[in-house]
Amino acid sequence: MDFHDSPEQAAWRSSVRTFLNEELPKEIAGKSPYDASPELRPAFEKWRSALTQLGWMAPAWPKEYGGASMSAMDQFILNQEFAENRAPGLGGLGVMMLGPTLISHGSEEQKRQHIPRILDGSVQWCQGYSEPGSGSDLASLQTRAVRDGDDWVLNGQKIWTSLAHIADWCFCLARTDPDAPKHRGITYFLVDMKTPGITVRPLVNMANGHDFNEVFFEDVRVPSKNIMGEVNRGWYVGTTTLDFERSSIGNSVGSRQAVERNVAWMREHRAEIAPTDYEAARLQWADRWIEVQTATMLAYRIISMQVSGQIPNYESSIAKLFNTELIQRTARTTAKMVGMWGDIIDPMAPMRGLPAFGYVNQVRETIAGGTSEIQRNIIATRGLGLPRA
Ligand SMILES: Cc1cc2nc3c(=O)[nH]c(=O)nc-3n(C[C@H](O)[C@H](O)[C@H](O)COP(=O)(O)OP(=O)(O)OC[C@H]3O[C@@H](n4cnc5c(N)ncnc54)[C@H](O)[C@@H]3O)c2cc1C
Repeated sequence: MDFHDSPEQAAWRSSVRTFLNEELPKEIAGKSPYDASPELRPAFEKWRSALTQLGWMAPAWPKEYGGASMSAMDQFILNQEFAENRAPGLGGLGVMMLGPTLISHGSEEQKRQHIPRILDGSVQWCQGYSEPGSGSDLASLQTRAVRDGDDWVLNGQKIWTSLAHIADWCFCLARTDPDAPKHRGITYFLVDMKTPGITVRPLVNMANGHDFNEVFFEDVRVPSKNIMGEVNRGWYVGTTTLDFERSSIGNSVGSRQAVERNVAWMREHRAEIAPTDYEAARLQWADRWIEVQTATMLAYRIISMQVSGQIPNYESSIAKLFNTELIQRTARTTAKMVGMWGDIIDPMAPMRGLPAFGYVNQVRETIAGGTSEIQRNIIATRGLGLPRA
């Protein structure tokens, strides 16, 4: 198998690199727009405007909607180069989840209202799917929506709603027919977060970060025009995707960079590390290095399927499972490398306490976007043909 770029791919890669050299403000490399300090805002705006001009805020979207109609292979190279340069993606859930759904199922009014604001970043979206009793088994969700005149009235609770505390709007699933089979009584709503009756309560995670929230709906009135697609068909609306590149190449590049960074640190600080910790970490880094190569091969497998017109299925679960567990193993090895300091989040600790912080902060990886157990179930049933448990 030849992993080298074709001449066209090499030319595309080179133009992406030139763009990154010229347009990416260095001070925002590796930063998230959501928790960056206010003085970085102009740099993020400059970056957004450079991306918008080329349709690269949403590369997979059709050009008529402000995207770039980019092929999966071109997206793969773009994502790889962006990850190499730690260039922040700015589209978030609006680009990844809501946009494709709007393009496929939205009314003309909904598209006109929301698509430009997703792309210019003036409106932030959150995803109101999970509930206290419904995560992996999402179709069992209980938030109710009842018709009242030209409105629907929502009551219920969402949980783990990322960025709900800064979001302007929420795309959300609610049960509109409790008597129908569970997948067939759900409707997809667009909810303005300023509507009376919505309460957002922060959830602070074990790394002391505030990313997600509980969201309570109490007699929240949502106009009928804010339903996307048909009433009771929301489950199928919610699973819409566009032709996104799904290889997770960005994650495998990120893991490789983390291993390289940590190994460089270990070389430089050898004298400060207890010999037993050093020896243990040395062997573990060798394992992580092998795993990084495996993650890269898994990404290549998915993109080669997409390029030949196949739709990755359990292969995406393999990549998600492997990448997220690799991120956690890398965090564990980093903590191991600094010995007892690996338990302490403190600026005085080696690497300013980042190993301990990383260790607790990465727990989320194997839960968000479908837990490792769910991925293993998919691989067992669809990949290995084993019966459901
Ligand atoms: C960082 C982060 C951000 C998130 N952001 C959002 C968001 O913005 N919006 C949103 O709606 N949700 C969000 N979520 C929620 C996420 O989608 C759910 O946490 C996830 O789907 C798991 O659901 P749960 O937490 O209810 O766990 P449960 O489904 O209750 O699972 C509990 C445990 O049981 C296991 N389990 C469940 N079912 C099975 C099964 N059939 N076979 C074997 N094991 C099983 C699970 O793997 C898990 O270990 C976020 C989660 C995280 C961690």
